[in-house]
Amino acid sequence: MISEAALADLRRRNPVAEVAGKWVSLRKSSSPKWQMAGPCPIHSLKPHAKDSTAFVCDAERWVCAGCGKAGDVIALVMEREHKSFPEAVEWLGGVQDVDPAEEARRAAAAAEKKRQQDAATARYREEERERLHRWWKHGQHWRGTPVETYLREVRGVEIPATARLRYRFDTPFTVVDGKDEWGNVLYRVIHRGPAMLGAITAPDGRFSGLHITWLDLARPKGKAVIVDPKTGEVQPAKKMRGTKQGCVIELLRCASPHMLVAGEGIETVLSVYTARLRRGLSMDGIAMWAAGDLGNLAGAAAIGCSERHPDLKDAAGRTRRVPGATPDFDRPAMVVPDSVGDLRLLADGDSDPFSTRLVMDRAVARHAREGRRISVAWPQPGLDFDDMRRAARNAGQPAEVA
Ligand SMILES: [Zn+2]
Repeated sequence: MISEAALADLRRRNPVAEVAGKWVSLRKSSSPKWQMAGPCPIHSLKPHAKDSTAFVCDAERWVCAGCGKAGDVIALVMEREHKSFPEAVEWLGGVQDVDPAEEARRAAAAAEKKRQQDAATARYREEERERLHRWWKHGQHWRGTPVETYLREVRGVEIPATARLRYRFDTPFTVVDGKDEWGNVLYRVIHRGPAMLGAITAPDGRFSGLHITWLDLARPKGKAVIVDPKTGEVQPAKKMRGTKQGCVIELLRCASPHMLVAGEGIETVLSVYTARLRRGLSMDGIAMWAAGDLGNLAGAAAIGCSERHPDLKDAAGRTRRVPGATPDFDRPAMVVPDSVGDLRLLADGDSDPFSTRLVMDRAVARHAREGRRISVAWPQPGLDFDDMRRAARNAGQPAEVA
């Protein structure tokens, strides 16, 4: 029989984030409840995927929205390594005899260390927010800048006068470049250039970060091609910095909208705006927002809520599970104002259709209210709304997406 004190000691010697970090690449989580997020050590096919947030953990516990499992570090090793409880305890280095008084002292020291770490994280977040806000403040209004050329001429969309978009001439693109001897993350600048800034705004109106698109108007799609000179890796020309969960980029602003159109990307939402404009439809009482990603549009799935994917398999050939349609209201997502009676969500045709269907079902469940009508617009297979609108423009027809 292993004492609770000995198990607590074993768990403290093996923080979940550290043990999981041996198998997958975790990043700082945007949720205040969880320290780290990333691919899942148990089910994820790509252990180093940079956009996965299925698995979240702190030092003591973990939850996976994909496999619908949760637990402590011992449960993680049991699942991941297919071990029994005693085998998992051995795998983690085994238990040591501990005196209960000594155990209490260590627990208090660990709690103090966690408090200091949380304070340091909060300080870091606020510094980052202030830095990005300086970029925003010094940015130029989009009119007459390459942002206008990019959106109107290259992408063929109209821009609402109230869109929270600006232009910044010399914007650095940074990548993580290891850690210093104190454990602080180091960054390396791999590109500098003109960029479109979209202000990311919290539900209370506070500036919380930036959506940045690096531009190169000489390219067919208007976006810069960014290659890391050290690794040769091509980086996506878009990046979100600061806090994005629960926050949005306001493109058509309205104080108390009765209709809200929300999608993933800026260009997608503006293509719907453009289609409405060209069909002569009213914009009164309408707000249009980009959520940045579909995960933020819909929020995370409830713990234990997942579905078997019809064709995806994990590395071991088992059916892969993907997050299901029941929302987890404890984790943040875009906040729809109470005044909205007509919510129009834009799905994304680029992603896997089975998973996207579940994400959109989850968004509908999350934002449902008495008396609110919610509709989901689906682009044609393999196209997004932007492609469709462009195809329609070439054919002389407005796209039927708004
Ligand atoms: Zn999982």
